[in-house]
Amino acid sequence: MRIFDPHIHMTSRTTDDYERMAAAGVRAVVEPAFWLGQPRTSAASFTDYFDSLIGWEPFRAGQFGVRHFATIALNPKEANDPRCRPVLDLLPRYLDKDAVVAVGEIGYDSMTPEEDEAFAAQLALAVAYDLPALVHTPHRDKARGCERTLAVVAESGIDAGRVVVDHLNEVTVKLVRDSGCWLGFSIYPDTKMTPQRMVELLREYGTDRMLVNSAADWGRSDPLLTRATGEAMLAAGFSDDDVDKVLWRNPVEFYGQSGRLDLSDLDVAAAVDPQTGNSILRGGS
Ligand SMILES: [Zn+2]
Repeated sequence: MRIFDPHIHMTSRTTDDYERMAAAGVRAVVEPAFWLGQPRTSAASFTDYFDSLIGWEPFRAGQFGVRHFATIALNPKEANDPRCRPVLDLLPRYLDKDAVVAVGEIGYDSMTPEEDEAFAAQLALAVAYDLPALVHTPHRDKARGCERTLAVVAESGIDAGRVVVDHLNEVTVKLVRDSGCWLGFSIYPDTKMTPQRMVELLREYGTDRMLVNSAADWGRSDPLLTRATGEAMLAAGFSDDDVDKVLWRNPVEFYGQSGRLDLSDLDVAAAVDPQTGNSILRGGS
């Protein structure tokens, strides 16, 4: 089973995790810029963080045979802190980098006017830099947060097929499905989705535009829940090809839209699309 985790915060994880992930089949990850728990007090703090996301962390991942990409943004929570707002001016420098495959995570935390503004400004950056966007949805008041998220995405003019709306569940899946955006699901040990609930959604909605991630970070989370979801799919009667589509080809297709998803020289058993026979190493770019 080859696995691409499209949303995981490896900065918060140990090398033991990289080792276990590699053994479980994880060959590539995308690490979105996010909130570190401790509030940052200046934009300079983001510079060091962004540099590590495109420098140190890919190096660390590479030691375990895992390819590491990043998405860069001012996260929704810190969009509310005036000390962090100047980060918006630093983003263009990073959105030009090869290791950056999307703008993210952006979106809503508490749905404040400040978040509105940062969200719209960063969707505009995604359009300007021709990059996909990774959109976080709030954990409270999910349905309303998701509706408003989709309205802002539509207003921005970005192609829905270049947006993933993340942290979905049974309440929000249909809304996003109908919008044309990609659907992201974070599988967590005791909140959000479980592997079993994910399997039910895949049964009901199919495998197109579906992305499964562990969203593992500094909280209670598990980087191997992507693999557990693949196992649960197989146990439920999905084929190896279905699992490969959800856990590998879908994320490759989504982030491949950046034109920067270089997976060459990666030790991936089936680096060729089993259906078309085409190489998918650069995700169609
Ligand atoms: Zn995240």
